[in-house]
Amino acid sequence: MATYTAHVITLRATRIRDSEAVCRFCSAERGKIEAAARGIGRPGSKLTPATELFVLSRAMFAEGRNLDRLTQVEVEESFYPLRTDVRRMSCAAFAVELVDKTTEAGEPNPETFHLLKSTLAALCESGKPPQVTWAFQAQYLSLIGIGPLMDCCITCGTTDDAQLLAFSPSLGGVLCRGCAGEDAHQAICPGTRRSYEALLGLGPGGADRLGVEPRVARELAWLLESHRQFHVQADIKSAKFLARLAERP
Ligand SMILES: [Zn+2]
Repeated sequence: MATYTAHVITLRATRIRDSEAVCRFCSAERGKIEAAARGIGRPGSKLTPATELFVLSRAMFAEGRNLDRLTQVEVEESFYPLRTDVRRMSCAAFAVELVDKTTEAGEPNPETFHLLKSTLAALCESGKPPQVTWAFQAQYLSLIGIGPLMDCCITCGTTDDAQLLAFSPSLGGVLCRGCAGEDAHQAICPGTRRSYEALLGLGPGGADRLGVEPRVARELAWLLESHRQFHVQADIKSAKFLARLAERP
């Protein structure tokens, strides 16, 4: 039976019986991997840590006809602080769920792996977990080709900063005053667009450095959430917790 090794982050583990789980991993080498972990929960089982969310490990797999099997696990980082703080845990749960639901098995995507790894590491240290998560989301949506267009009006292309004062989730970008007109496009203040671009540039590891006004924070949370809902065809359940956190930064 062919075997392979990969650096993996655990995205999801579903127990199917006491000693067995089906797990999904984000890997640097092979994109998403789905595999069975057997014999877990028993004393001395070396596979059990890989069934915990967020754990980064070097794992060995055996290829199976329908489902691969996890055979060895060497934990490299457990991201323990994510398990002791509900805000950090909720943000990390959102990040892994979004990656899980927007990636396909067998499509190598090292950028996603490294972005997720740096996001989990940043959340362990962060005093502003929602901001780290916005930076992650901005970079990730851009990486998978569905990030919002924020540097010019999505309809007429103007880059006049003073005019870019609305955001359309359905069109997927900012609109100038003239193009937004009177309809339902949501107004945003200039600071929101600038903060979005700053978070995109800083990434999860630098997101704590940005100062964000409460109004800008509310608008960023709305903008990212509504854009994602419109352009990602999956229900991200942990987004609800994230929205509650953003209301109480
Ligand atoms: Zn315009």
